[in-house]
This record gives sequence, structure tokens and C-alpha cells, in this order.
Amino acid sequence: MSVPRFWRKQVARYNLIGTHCTNCGAYYYPPRNMCPTCRRDGKLENFKFSGKGELLTYTVIHTAAEGFEKQTPYVLGIVKLEEGPSLTSQIIGDPASMRIGLKVRPVFR
Ligand SMILES: [Zn+2]
Repeated sequence: MSVPRFWRKQVARYNLIGTHCTNCGAYYYPPRNMCPTCRRDGKLENFKFSGKGELLTYTVIHTAAEGFEKQTPYVLGIVKLEEGPSLTSQIIGDPASMRIGLKVRPVFR
């Protein structure tokens, strides 16, 4: 992955901008160009997620990808946002304190 593309992805994730279909009420993250439920009838608008949610599942990373060696051990988790969609994110906190259902909120680093 090229560096500029990597950073663009990070910006989208940190801003938590997704889309909301005003026709069926569904929320999408990452943003979509078309509502898969409504198709042509969907009306999508940008939506900024609060980032609050709960931990669906997680894994503790001990052997890090290149560039992340100094951060180990760290936690990668799937967070289910209050509005519905799930996203993968690094979870900040003591790996021993992680549990499924843990309430999370966004931190900006
Ligand atoms: Zn829809």
C-alpha cells in the first residue's frame, strides 16, 4: 500500500465519516455510494459517527507488523458502533482488561 493511500484511509477512519440512507434508515461505515438495500431508491448522505460502541471481538497482537514493533502487545478489535456498523480498530488499553461487550469510545492519537 502506498503511503498517501494509507494516510487517506487513516483520515477517513479518524473522522468516522460514513453514510446514512434516509430512505431505509441504514448506516454504513466505511461510506458507500449506493444503499445495498434500496439500490436506486436509496438516498445517501454523509454521516459522522459518534465512535461509541462495544467490543464484538478482539485479538492481542504480540508480533507486530513492520513499524508497530514498539507498540506490542496491542489490541485489535472489531467495534460495533451504536448506530449499527462494525469497524476494525486498534483498541487502546491494557490487553488484560479487554472483554467482549466492553464499551468503547474514540480516542484520537
Ligand atoms: Zn436504504
